[in-house]
Amino acid sequence: ELQEAQQYVNEVYETVKKRNPGESEFHQAVKEILDSLTPVFAKNPKYRNNAILERIVEPERLITFRVPWVDDQGKVQVNRGFRVQFNSAIGPYKGGLRFHPSVNASIIKFLGFEQIFKNSLTGQPIGGGKGGSDFDPKGKSDNEVMKFTQSFMTELSKYIGPDTDVPAGDIGVGAREIGYMFGQYKRLRGGNEAGVLTGKGLTYGGSLTRTEATGYGLVYFTAEMLKTKGESFNGKTVVVSGSGNVSIYAIEKAQELGAKIVACSDSNGYVYDKNGINLATVKRLKEVERKRIKEYVTEHPTAEYFEGCENIWSIPCDIALPCATQNEINEASAKKLVANGVKFVAEGANMPSTLEAIDVYLSNNVYFGPAKAANAGGVAVSALEMAQNSARLAWTFEEVDAKLQTIMKNIYNNSVNAAAEYGHAGNLVVGSNIAGFLKVADTMVAHGV
Ligand code: GLU
Repeated sequence: ELQEAQQYVNEVYETVKKRNPGESEFHQAVKEILDSLTPVFAKNPKYRNNAILERIVEPERLITFRVPWVDDQGKVQVNRGFRVQFNSAIGPYKGGLRFHPSVNASIIKFLGFEQIFKNSLTGQPIGGGKGGSDFDPKGKSDNEVMKFTQSFMTELSKYIGPDTDVPAGDIGVGAREIGYMFGQYKRLRGGNEAGVLTGKGLTYGGSLTRTEATGYGLVYFTAEMLKTKGESFNGKTVVVSGSGNVSIYAIEKAQELGAKIVACSDSNGYVYDKNGINLATVKRLKEVERKRIKEYVTEHPTAEYFEGCENIWSIPCDIALPCATQNEINEASAKKLVANGVKFVAEGANMPSTLEAIDVYLSNNVYFGPAKAANAGGVAVSALEMAQNSARLAWTFEEVDAKLQTIMKNIYNNSVNAAAEYGHAGNLVVGSNIAGFLKVADTMVAHGV
């Protein structure tokens, strides 16, 4: 049965490759999930009979659109916008918007596909979506970001709404961009539909703890992994890549729990500070001054800056938290981590480890927390923001943080249990994929074709 299921899964994967030529990131995300699901198809014929797999790999809708805007020199610029509405079985499409020059259909589809299972794992009623643009915010003035963002929302507004599709931030989209987009949406609709976007400012419907949620959630999840092995963050050496919203709040919470974070990075290079990263400096550089991480060493002369990001994974550490971007850890980097004693890897970014890197962790006894489980805290609190918007009230920081902690524990336990039930005890990749899949698949069966 297992062999037959494997063959079936392979056939679906071949179709995905044929239908989506050249989209390597999308293929990678599909492959990771499909391989995990083989034991499910071997056990339950109903999913195969209902062609759940064939349906789930095909987005309900992929929207691409032109985004024209005028730069500060008066020149007309054109970018491409995307929104993938991947799966609405269990709730409105939910997922961030990414503004980065690398954005294309493959990137948006891999992110949207991951989002289906991640959102299901949170236990909240949210479907899977994602969007963004190849717009590069780096070096753009505030005015240019506003002009672009307004044009982007002018088109996107036709497809979203508090009960249909609810975007949020991702790489390149933070509080400033969400503010401009909300303003434009409100102007176009002529009403204040607070629940149409999440990650909003606190003065207009945002939720306390949303800013911290992905990073804090990652650390709560990793703390559960550590607990399973009789360990804790206290006294551990940690490498965190990135220096954006996810990294900053992962560093903050891990430091609070007694860990020493010795490195962080941006797309140009990384900082190694053997005394432990000074978070106040990172926060000011990245969030207020919008500068490069290189500047860190001018204020902390004992720290060192290295150009390029690959060697950050050569730094000896107990715990690695990749929080920068997809495929930032390849097979060679994973081997370096293992050689230097890493025991835990948990992903704050989406798909930061290649499939080969994951194999290296699993075959070397590194306890591995995959992104769709470990970084689900962000979107989980987005769902809590939607709930508050619908109820027209605001919860305290402590209330939301307590709910986030419970959600991350549940995700961990559900993943552990699903892995054990399907014969892969201790494998959180298999466990989280299966646990995320079952809720969506059962709903799709219930809804009919
Ligand atoms: N972009 C985040 C993610 O990758 C958050 C999405 C959201 O809050 O909707 O899950």
